[in-house]
Amino acid sequence: MFAVRQQVDLRAYNSLGITERAEHLVEIHSDRELVAALDMAAEHAWPVTVLGGGSNVVVTGSLPGVVIIMRSRGRRVLRRAPDALLIEGEAGENWHDLVNWTLDLGLCGLENLSLIPGTLGAAPVQNIGAYGVELQDVFHSLDALDRVTGEIRQFDRAACHFGYRESVFKQSPGRYVILRVRLILRRHAQVRVDYAPLDTAWEATGLHRPDPRVVASLVCHIRQSKLPDPAVLGNAGSFFKNPLVTRHQLNALKALYPDIPHYLQPDGRYKVAAGWLIDQAGWKGVRAGHVGVHARQALVLVNHGGARGEDILSLAKRISDDVHARFGLELEMEPQRLG
Ligand SMILES: Cc1cc2nc3c(=O)[nH]c(=O)nc-3n(C[C@H](O)[C@H](O)[C@H](O)COP(=O)(O)OP(=O)(O)OC[C@H]3O[C@@H](n4cnc5c(N)ncnc54)[C@H](O)[C@@H]3O)c2cc1C
Repeated sequence: MFAVRQQVDLRAYNSLGITERAEHLVEIHSDRELVAALDMAAEHAWPVTVLGGGSNVVVTGSLPGVVIIMRSRGRRVLRRAPDALLIEGEAGENWHDLVNWTLDLGLCGLENLSLIPGTLGAAPVQNIGAYGVELQDVFHSLDALDRVTGEIRQFDRAACHFGYRESVFKQSPGRYVILRVRLILRRHAQVRVDYAPLDTAWEATGLHRPDPRVVASLVCHIRQSKLPDPAVLGNAGSFFKNPLVTRHQLNALKALYPDIPHYLQPDGRYKVAAGWLIDQAGWKGVRAGHVGVHARQALVLVNHGGARGEDILSLAKRISDDVHARFGLELEMEPQRLG
């Protein structure tokens, strides 16, 4: 059974490296331990916070009650069809390790999502995405414990209400604890390399046959050259979502800013690059005390050391107010605020 630790420094449990305390903290390795931890919380009327790798949160104060860290491990092939495999993994599986395991099995579908920090269980929460691919493209189903009814419920893709960095789990924070996730991955390589800058990197290889392993290594290389390593410089990846605009709004913006990067979405709207907006507003590389905007990637806010969650949020507000004043667009924060 798990140990219950008290007054735990959360610095090692969030990729922004923010120092705040958890009143109690447990690391759970199975459904049984999770249920026991939730029972303990209910007995003491403690609030519950569930964390995977802490790579998409901003902790803004001490967390009362109990923080449950998902450490359940295990992954397996559930079903084999001639053209695809159904795989399943426990929530605490490291996402990038899972991607590598599927590549070793000769499967295709996760290569563009290589090197995203965090756990498998958190991946559906914001429908993780990168380089033109989202989790929902390969998603089959998941099991989650419903903390309202106490039942384990299966969610298929429709029940998850996936959207751009959205899902029913993000919309109902704290209600569901994701236990395990199932994905369908193809055996035959059919890679997607049309998203900048992956398209240029792929072309430079001179390869014509789709090869998921090559795509994965290009994605890793691009990410390592563009994004700060949280182990060196605290960050939570992209801090803002790319705003979605109508065609009419886009045309108005293009009249003023002909170079504005934009991507057509399946629903007919356009995603405008938030990083470009922040860069144009002059924030790239700006430092404000303990926090700042990364010098190479304007979408990433960083902790230069000793930052509080409120410092991060206050810089984020200054940036979004400025972007709104210049472009009339709202920037929405991507990580979840805790505390
Ligand atoms: C350098 C860097 C690069 C990144 N790049 C990308 C990217 O390209 N694309 C992208 O989409 N994201 C990216 N992210 C964000 C982050 O990696 C993902 O959102 C990831 O899925 C978070 O996983 P985690 O385990 O760290 O979640 P956490 O930060 O621990 O949790 C995030 C949210 O999910 C909830 N949660 C966690 N586990 C569970 C569970 N088992 N059940 C229910 N709720 C749960 C938490 O309560 C919290 O609300 C990046 C982050 C960093 C630091």
